[in-house]
Amino acid sequence: MTQPSQPARVRFAPSPTGRTHLGSGRTALYNYLLARQTGGQFILRIEDTDQKRYVPGAEEELMESLRWLGLDWDEGPDVGGPYGPYRQTERKSIYQKYARQLIENGQAYYCFCPTTKAEEAESPQQRRQHRELCPGRDLTLNEADARRSSGEEHVIRFRMPFEGSITVSDAMRGDISVENSTLDDYILVKSNGLPVYHLAVVIDDHLMEITHAIRTSEWLPTFPLHGHIYNALGWDQPIWVHPSIFLKPDGKGKMSKRDSEALLEEGKSIFLGDFKDMGYLPEAVVNWMALIGWSYDDKTEFFTLENLIEKFSLEKLSPAPAAINFSKLDHFNGLHIRELDSTDLAKRIKPYFEVAGYTVDDEDKLQQIAETLQVRMATLDEAPEKAGFFFKDEIHPEPESLIGKKMTAFASLEMATRIYELIAALPDFSEETANQPLRDLAVELGLKAGHVFGFLRNAITTQKVSPPIFETMTIVGREKVLERIENAIATLEKLTQND
Ligand code: GLU
Repeated sequence: MTQPSQPARVRFAPSPTGRTHLGSGRTALYNYLLARQTGGQFILRIEDTDQKRYVPGAEEELMESLRWLGLDWDEGPDVGGPYGPYRQTERKSIYQKYARQLIENGQAYYCFCPTTKAEEAESPQQRRQHRELCPGRDLTLNEADARRSSGEEHVIRFRMPFEGSITVSDAMRGDISVENSTLDDYILVKSNGLPVYHLAVVIDDHLMEITHAIRTSEWLPTFPLHGHIYNALGWDQPIWVHPSIFLKPDGKGKMSKRDSEALLEEGKSIFLGDFKDMGYLPEAVVNWMALIGWSYDDKTEFFTLENLIEKFSLEKLSPAPAAINFSKLDHFNGLHIRELDSTDLAKRIKPYFEVAGYTVDDEDKLQQIAETLQVRMATLDEAPEKAGFFFKDEIHPEPESLIGKKMTAFASLEMATRIYELIAALPDFSEETANQPLRDLAVELGLKAGHVFGFLRNAITTQKVSPPIFETMTIVGREKVLERIENAIATLEKLTQND
């Protein structure tokens, strides 16, 4: 396969027709990696000629998602560049010029058939039939121009040869040869004057001097048409790579719209814009996406974006479709969380506490919480659930939770009082100073250490599971620990009065 030796000019060319999903993210990533690895340019081109499918806001969401992933572009509709405009609807006159050139050279023709009104819905059979019968194929240019000038509605179609064959080449898949008799007179320019993807992509990739085009394999069926258009215009093609599609998590077939909706109900998503709220790090999403269809070797799985820039190669792409594996994403997220500097982690978990309604005004405390959560989280959105109690002014443990296993409320009250006294009397408060005395206390009271620590966990965190109790108590601070034990004692007193 052709790993570039020169700086690569690559593009990510999404159509703003909906939310940006994982497949697009991966396409963008591979293109980006090639550009950065070779010191080339990564271009963002908005392919918005299909106005019927245009979704307002989609372009903004996609740019936001790319930025979140860290895939910055060198040229694009927002940043400009020497090959602009980078939004296809702003390039209409460019396409019209080349479409006219194809017509004048006899490689395309004006078609006035009424069926062309159904240009969006044209089935392969209709297209084939049309190719056999279309009178437009036989009109002279003068005749066609006269009908156009009189305002007759028309489209421009490619004049596909009936004979011969075409070979197009994918750097990963090899040569693909197709008999022209199996192809059609595809529409190149619609009746509204806007080109379809097939024409626009060829013209733009050529004019923008794209060297490598990595795009989804869903374009393989029309790849031969693209080859024909290149030949008709007399242009060299970029190096094409069509990575495989993604399969549903169960591996049975391609992801459909309905599948993505069903996933959302399970709390999972294939939309890039959802990953942040779900507590994923962009680093983990990048790592995960990169490995769906590419591998470095059979053992390395942890990659940062920098590693990927260094290690990525077209040779190691796999043409086999791969199933989306969400547990792998959780796994990578955990790995990347543990790799973060804890100050960075603190910054990243802060918004999750805030969204959950906590006021985070003590940065030192947040830093300590980040350190303790670092090894205990798969996703950042777990932070408030695991550690929200640190930020509460008051907590209210379930009264029953303060009674130790197989203990009475009286015995629990006695234990709680002794724990309070012990902690209050320590010269200073830390795991070193408190651990052994608390264990000795348990023995003295004929209890297990678990009784003492279980009580402390419930009294201080209200949770069955929390970070280790000494780490927790240190972060909460002795004063607040004593206050919470005092509250627990008051609760236990009430319970004993009820007995
Ligand atoms: N606009 C096309 C799409 O979103 C881009 C295909 C390409 O990269 O050439 O599928």
